[in-house]
Amino acid sequence: MNIKLVVVIIFLIGRIGVLEAEDNFIFPAPMERTDINQKFIIDSNTYLVVPNKGDKGFQDIAVLLQEEIKRYCGVELKIKEEKGIGGSKGAILLGLLPESKLIERNIVAVKINPVKKLEGYVLYVDKNIALVGGADVRGVYYGVLTLLQRIYKDSNVYIAGTKIRDWPHFEYRAMRLSLPRGKPRKGETDKSYFKNFLRALSFFKMNYAMIEGFPWAVPLKKRPGLNWHDPLTLEEVKEINAYGNKYFLKMCPTIASAPAAWAVRFYPQLIEVAEGEDPQNLKTWGYRKGKEANRQNLCPSNEESYKLLFDIYDEMTGMFNGDVVNIGIDEVHHEGAGSRWAVCDRCKNKDPVKLFADFVNRLSRYIIKKGKTPIINSTVLIKEHGGYFKDLYKAADLIRKDVIISNWSETHIRHGKGSRKVEGFKSTEYFKNKGFKKIIHLVSAGANWNDREELKEVRGKLDAYGVVVAHYSGMNFETLNNNGTLRELIFSAENIWSPDLPAMGSEDEKKQLGYAYTMLREILLNNKMFMEAIEVGRAKQQNPAGKGKGAEFH
Ligand SMILES: [Zn+2]
Repeated sequence: MNIKLVVVIIFLIGRIGVLEAEDNFIFPAPMERTDINQKFIIDSNTYLVVPNKGDKGFQDIAVLLQEEIKRYCGVELKIKEEKGIGGSKGAILLGLLPESKLIERNIVAVKINPVKKLEGYVLYVDKNIALVGGADVRGVYYGVLTLLQRIYKDSNVYIAGTKIRDWPHFEYRAMRLSLPRGKPRKGETDKSYFKNFLRALSFFKMNYAMIEGFPWAVPLKKRPGLNWHDPLTLEEVKEINAYGNKYFLKMCPTIASAPAAWAVRFYPQLIEVAEGEDPQNLKTWGYRKGKEANRQNLCPSNEESYKLLFDIYDEMTGMFNGDVVNIGIDEVHHEGAGSRWAVCDRCKNKDPVKLFADFVNRLSRYIIKKGKTPIINSTVLIKEHGGYFKDLYKAADLIRKDVIISNWSETHIRHGKGSRKVEGFKSTEYFKNKGFKKIIHLVSAGANWNDREELKEVRGKLDAYGVVVAHYSGMNFETLNNNGTLRELIFSAENIWSPDLPAMGSEDEKKQLGYAYTMLREILLNNKMFMEAIEVGRAKQQNPAGKGKGAEFH
């Protein structure tokens, strides 16, 4: 047979194989991607190469990849160190750029520039080699998550050829998560569910888990009275923190420092009230009429308030090792719901604005001294958002500028159906003009897709530090599903990483979100490993008429 014809036939067979077996799914979509029509075969000769086996980060990544591949096809890849290997043919190389000379040589040979942006990576696969070169270890991990989504089976198990340069658009990509309680109550999740949630966040390339659970679920030694709902044990909390770290999540506490209604029961003497008011029985009015007051503040002129808060900060930052701490302070202005400010004997002759700024600055300084960055919620600092209570919005000029502003964005962006939008007001710009450098946007869940309008405006167009997805119900999968949080999570994950990829509203985007949603269900509800979830996600999108949720994501 003519040799050229043989080549053509082989090419065509390869081509058909590729077309049949593969699809285009990588979630979130990489920034730059060109697929290569070659296959890197995975078999018992394939091995993994890491710079140094003693490096815990690389060890976690290599073991994850090893376990995923073993579960997928039964092949257990050997892990080797870079310095010990001769050639790199048949190897999956993991390493940092420019540190790894082996990876550097390979990307120079195929003319790929390294990615220097934080958490970015290069992924290159052809028939001879597969490599992930990260800007940092987290970048390598994200490259491996992408690599998993290029693994397929036909008569062989293989990684489909590709050339990817990828990095996150936003640095800070978070979700607020409520810890499970020691004894789950009805409608609450158990701890394995919580772990699955952490895995899912990680798989979607989110990097921060903002942990709520104070004071109900976090065990406090110094102030045990504050735990009123079956707290977890310290060992359980440590395990959760370590588990998140293993999946490259920064585990960070969220502590409501103001308002501080949690203190009313055990520290009523610290609650800011005017003479004659009972902190346990504040009258409420307005939209909270008939409900208990729930926005009480600690007196900012009482040293005991700081001792209490700092005890809590100490313990919680000891349990969660991430580099930011959310200290609250967003709803001190709801006077009708119990908020009081500058009314007690110690405070009433002081300037309420300065008192507030001093309070926030002092709490922030304490966090900064621990080597962490405080996040403060912004609503009270925006006049248009109700911050006119005692003119507290003016404190925006006096608060230190190295805190991160978490912006509830209502005045910048419409939130929910029929809510108010202040025309012409842009909160990011407002805070930038005040001198704050890092601004994040809280994306709160909505029950339907109209709430995506909020994200449409955010995606890629804001000079923001990041996005945090929040919710207002217990950590129960179906509850979160019903209030739209899980959709927000997927939609956010897609657009925090690579805004407008795929294009908003396109068929590709629908498929992409459906793929992600199916995977989320598999990881959360069915305890599936990543490769297993990827397979189900692919199958569902290839057969959208099939049963179950996911295919009909929109
Ligand atoms: Zn006071």
